[in-house]
Amino acid sequence: MLGVGIVGALSACSSAPSAAPPEPTAAPSLTTSPTASSSSAARVDWAQLRRHVQGTLARPGDPTYDTVRRLQNPRYDDQRPLGVLSVATADDVATGVRFAQDHDLPVALRSGGHSYPGWSGGGRPRALVIDCRPLDDVRLDGTTATVGAGASLAHVYGEVGRRGRAIAGGSCPTVGFSGLTLGGGVGVLTRALGLTCDAVRSMRVVTADGTLRTASDDKEPDLFWALRGGGGGHLGVVTSFDVETSVAPTLSTIYLAWPFSAAREVIEAWQQWAPGADDRLWSTLKALGGESHRGEPTLLLSGTWTGPASAFEGRLAGLLDHVPAPTSRVPHTRGYLDAMRAFAGSGAREAFAATSHVMYAPLDAAGIGDLLDRVHLAQDSGLKEAGISIDALGGRVRDLQPGDTAFVHREALATVQYTATFPPGSARDADAYVHGFRDAMLPHWGDHAYVNYADRTITDYRAAYFGDNADRLGRVRTTYDPEHFFTQPQGF
Ligand SMILES: Cc1cc2nc3c(=O)[nH]c(=O)nc-3n(C[C@H](O)[C@H](O)[C@H](O)COP(=O)(O)OP(=O)(O)OC[C@H]3O[C@@H](n4cnc5c(N)ncnc54)[C@H](O)[C@@H]3O)c2cc1C
Repeated sequence: MLGVGIVGALSACSSAPSAAPPEPTAAPSLTTSPTASSSSAARVDWAQLRRHVQGTLARPGDPTYDTVRRLQNPRYDDQRPLGVLSVATADDVATGVRFAQDHDLPVALRSGGHSYPGWSGGGRPRALVIDCRPLDDVRLDGTTATVGAGASLAHVYGEVGRRGRAIAGGSCPTVGFSGLTLGGGVGVLTRALGLTCDAVRSMRVVTADGTLRTASDDKEPDLFWALRGGGGGHLGVVTSFDVETSVAPTLSTIYLAWPFSAAREVIEAWQQWAPGADDRLWSTLKALGGESHRGEPTLLLSGTWTGPASAFEGRLAGLLDHVPAPTSRVPHTRGYLDAMRAFAGSGAREAFAATSHVMYAPLDAAGIGDLLDRVHLAQDSGLKEAGISIDALGGRVRDLQPGDTAFVHREALATVQYTATFPPGSARDADAYVHGFRDAMLPHWGDHAYVNYADRTITDYRAAYFGDNADRLGRVRTTYDPEHFFTQPQGF
């Protein structure tokens, strides 16, 4: 979740047999030679790829190219991939993988297009983008949803929510289910239901050899382990997920605001309370400055409760009894789907910089002081909105052990985001702001980070994202992509 400006106001059915094709099936090579050629991109026979897929290929100069190549973050609008293959079927994915191998082309994998560092854009290096967005079918069979890799969160919530079911995920409507789930997936229902990846029962994935596999606890278990928290872009192209849904809960939400002068007390009390609160209560604490917060930075709590509405106030007492009275309090009780729509905001494109931490220990007085100093720095930065969001973990996240899936941060207290939105122009100041903030907090929070908020400047990223799971991820990579065909930065 990003800041207030980005997340808005604060902030299938059957798993039809055809959805799980017989496995493994390998796509045929499109060249006469089974070995990769050393052709340069300039000599690639793109017409050949077009002839072999049901989807569409957009190349520079084609009418749709400038639309389909764009990511969510406008700062990456200058990325010009070799082509964007908008796949219509899992076979198209396999064909695209094999074509890229035959022609020595790098690929970039794309679903929702929200990669923080823009790695799904295929611009650096110029790559063939395998764009899964058209694979957006969401179907419900009993309590299991089959979610196409290209589905956005809003589409997933809409399809399962209108049938009285829920999946825990993030709030931003345009975020792709794939990228979010492959890295873990945190959101307003995380403490009540677990991470998004925890509800996944199986996935279909095209691996580097062009084979469409099913990964589950029983089939390809190491691959299944790695794809639940290891992040997208490294091990294969997921084409669909089977996800266990929950009964859609009624959600009580609350937004609380305090004057910034109360920030020290509120942060101190919140960090002691939120990660250990009733599992049904999730909250995030935001301290945001910048042009959108003239006067003084904003201090805001957004809370979500899935228990009986009448009991919400009582649960909040664990925090409110220890802090000054909020100056603003906005409560709502809504059905799951209405609540998720309310969280969604506009989903409008806005340029931003971001990085992350994962918090394993509460801040002491010096840490809170450093945090407040950095929020104050946003005031004269020229940035639109910049600061920190701390999203509570705990609850059902702890039902699993750090080694049970690739998402290692089971015992952490919270995920932390540093974000800065900026007006059209250079990203330099925004990048400097978020990295300066993270650097200032390193002595307090160490070097842990969340792979879904990937940051190319984190040098020891294996340890930061994956901790003790990094070595096993490396072994899975060796098994499924020994030639390192998937070339995304920060590989394992
Ligand atoms: C506005 C905004 C709000 C966010 N809110 C949340 C939140 O609430 N909770 C949370 O946990 N995260 C959140 N995130 C982070 C988000 O989960 C990650 O950025 C995620 O990787 C985005 O997935 P995507 O499919 O939209 O992006 P993409 O850019 O398409 O993909 C992200 C990564 O996954 C790879 N990938 C894409 N599709 C596939 C595929 N089919 N198979 C294999 N790899 C693939 C890409 O190569 C890339 O590395 C947010 C991000 C933004 C920008």
